[in-house]
Amino acid sequence: MATETFDKQKTIDLRQKHVGPSCKVFFSHDPIKIVRARGQYMYNEKDEKYLDCINNVAHVGHCHPDVVEAGTKQMELLNTNSRFLHDNLVLYAQRLQATLPEKLSVCYFVNSGSEANDLALRLAWQYTGHKDIITLENAYHGHVSSLIDISPYKFHQMAGAEASQHVHVALSPDIYRGKYREDHPDPATAYAENVKDVIEQAHEKGRKIAAFIAESLQSCGGQVIPPVGYFQKVAQHVRNAGGIFIADEVQVGFGRVGTHFWGFQLQGEDFVPDIVTMGKPIGNGHPMSCVITTREVAESFMSSGMEYFNTFGGNPVSCAIGLAVLDVIEKEDLQGNALHVGGYLTQLLDELKKRHPLVGDVRGRGLFIGLELVRNRDKRTPATAEAQDVIYRLKEQRILLSADGPHRNVLKFKPPMCFTREDAELAVDTIDQILTDLE
Ligand code: PLP
Repeated sequence: MATETFDKQKTIDLRQKHVGPSCKVFFSHDPIKIVRARGQYMYNEKDEKYLDCINNVAHVGHCHPDVVEAGTKQMELLNTNSRFLHDNLVLYAQRLQATLPEKLSVCYFVNSGSEANDLALRLAWQYTGHKDIITLENAYHGHVSSLIDISPYKFHQMAGAEASQHVHVALSPDIYRGKYREDHPDPATAYAENVKDVIEQAHEKGRKIAAFIAESLQSCGGQVIPPVGYFQKVAQHVRNAGGIFIADEVQVGFGRVGTHFWGFQLQGEDFVPDIVTMGKPIGNGHPMSCVITTREVAESFMSSGMEYFNTFGGNPVSCAIGLAVLDVIEKEDLQGNALHVGGYLTQLLDELKKRHPLVGDVRGRGLFIGLELVRNRDKRTPATAEAQDVIYRLKEQRILLSADGPHRNVLKFKPPMCFTREDAELAVDTIDQILTDLE
């Protein structure tokens, strides 16, 4: 059957009629139609080039030829469900585990970040025998039913919705906008004490904690970087209460933070989560994800008699693609690139801050960076409308960026990891001009 090519307006109309809503931001303001992509660039129907600063799914670059070749070759040879023995699965599990502390040695392959976090909760419930989960303010962990409750970022948008009894929300460890800020002598301890208080309040109601879940750096929450030492202290409180620690690396993992392969490693070598979940970047756009945990947690799950089966998780094509993504990260030293280009981008944004009162804060690690816009630096009044304006104007100049955080005033950089110094300069120069116009 021939594929019909729709013009842009027809595509918008058809999408609104037939497809559940998504991409609200881009859809409310002249959505772009993308027909092809390569590296850090996407091209519209007129073959005009957009610089992609937000696509953390195209981790090693859109349509990387090595990844495409690995997937295509495997598709020609074999693809099937995960019932059968095939080498790719074991090879891929070993390669992923080699990036993590030794203790994290059992992989469960699934297909999306939501599925990974949902499974992580089930593992925690079974292992601890407890039911309750502690999540952070403004967190987002996915869209399946078990995760909406532990995703205040989404949950708060639902009129009249209330958190379930088994969910407890702790303070976001945000040292720019949170309760304990950069001038606090020890924000890591102060925020961890808050988790301890949350545990105690739950105990008073007769509830028991199964897990604490957090992104290693909070993305939807506004590019929040927890103070070093916070995770260790939280893990201690949570483990003392019989719970475990789940690190959600679905957005930030896989070399993006530059100095380390995983975001949680920024906290120091002495910190090891009980479960790590990963998704988006690992398949470079191919839907795949994984949960990695300790043998103890996995054995407890198996001993429950719960047979875990996932039709597509770890299929031969996904694993071939996953292996190719890891190869490209190594071969092209993309983690090193994230460190160097990310550092350069942060430096350019710091200089921007000196010139523009609208810039309240610049924070980031590697190619995971936030630029928080404020109307008043002393009061830190969120510049929400201005942030939206900046991203729309950037889009007109063919640069794709998003604004997020509880006030939607944090411009988020999380580009493909092949981003260059020239890309960084182009993005920052353009923001510079837009901020000058706005001010
Ligand atoms: N966890 C985090 C931190 C995410 O950002 C997302 C998606 O944005 C998810 C989980 C859910 O992943 P998916 O959309 O692949 O289900």
